[in-house]
Amino acid sequence: MNMQANKEMAKKNIPTKASEEFRNFPMVPRVVYGIGSFSTLGDILMPKRKHSEAPMIYLVDDVFENTEIINRIPSIFCDQIILISADEEPKTEQVDALVNMIRETYTELPSGIIGIGGGTLLDLAKAVAIMLTNNGSASEYQGWDLVNKKSIYHVGIPTISGTGAEVSRTTVLMGPEKKLGINSDYTTFDQVILDPDLTIGVPKEQWFYTGMDCFIHCVESLNGTFLNAFSKSYGEKSLELCKEVFLEDIEESDSREKLMMASWHGGMSIAYSQVGVAHAMSYGLGYVLGVKHGIGNCLVFQFLEEFYPEGVQLFNLMLEKHNIILPKGVCSNLSDNEMNTMITVAMGMEPLWENALGEQWKSIISPKKLKAIYQKI
Ligand code: NAD
Ligand code: ZN
Repeated sequence: MNMQANKEMAKKNIPTKASEEFRNFPMVPRVVYGIGSFSTLGDILMPKRKHSEAPMIYLVDDVFENTEIINRIPSIFCDQIILISADEEPKTEQVDALVNMIRETYTELPSGIIGIGGGTLLDLAKAVAIMLTNNGSASEYQGWDLVNKKSIYHVGIPTISGTGAEVSRTTVLMGPEKKLGINSDYTTFDQVILDPDLTIGVPKEQWFYTGMDCFIHCVESLNGTFLNAFSKSYGEKSLELCKEVFLEDIEESDSREKLMMASWHGGMSIAYSQVGVAHAMSYGLGYVLGVKHGIGNCLVFQFLEEFYPEGVQLFNLMLEKHNIILPKGVCSNLSDNEMNTMITVAMGMEPLWENALGEQWKSIISPKKLKAIYQKI
């Protein structure tokens, strides 16, 4: 039964299955915040160490190779630091390979998995933690609530702000057949460390694209039909912070702190609502062309004034203020086949469309309409 029908029935006091309307979603149970808080990691992990043969495995963005951050990782006993490139978004086969490698190296399950990086590394850490206790390939768990067994202890430490992956109950993976999250109660991190100084050094354009992911989460959540007071309160706070960061002249360190909290609140906002048109279409771009999430959202969002007039107006001001020039002609050489796949992937994101446009979304959105938008990109 859909949410709208549930609401109608609830209003009329007709009993509905409570779990359908009132989602009981997990939150990150522990979080440390503050400049320099990365140094608490060793103390946090110590009581979680099962014994000296059960390591902590650190999955770290390879952008930090030979930097101070690696030296500060509290690696002891048989712990392992694995450097991973974030050039491509995480894949199910990459998760499977990491899990096999860890299983072959150690006789014991690790004590924990710690992801240090942006959404790419955070999602990898979540997925590896799940797949260490669940059989088969990560691709078998892409979807909603398909994970049976509790994941192992996992910690998320973001080094770039915007995705909200640090709070969400999903890990978005490219699989053999689809780009889809493992959405489950076991996906959410057990511990997060938010140290704004870890985001020092993010290149300007990347800062903008990942930051806009957060801005777009807010716009899509606040303008969606699934909105309720819970999502709204987080979405409004996040939007306010995004405006300060991207439209006002504030100190860099202030900006880092604010964007980190905007990301957190943006993620919390969509937990109880949904994203919308830009995300649905960005999934299509990602699937066919490998366009990354943040920039993909921006590429689509610029042409969505029909759906989000105020949001697109603000977005244009932000682009201008930060001298960001978005690439052009991204979809100009697509074959018919590729274009059709892109449209099919986008239209397949039903909950996103329903949130954006209501239950009757199919009367507003057609393949022809999506094609016209993609052709502008
Ligand atoms: P990312 O992790 O892909 O990293 C982007 C770039 O920034 C990389 O080149 C990386 O090396 C670099 N980088 C990161 N931190 C840096 C630092 N401190 N200094 C210098 N460079 C740094 O970026 P992202 O936008 O955070 O993540 C995108 C991914 O997140 C996508 O795979 C997307 O699907 C996923 N995502 C997940 C969720 C979720 O809820 N799980 C939500 C949104 C997006
Ligand atoms: Zn997003």
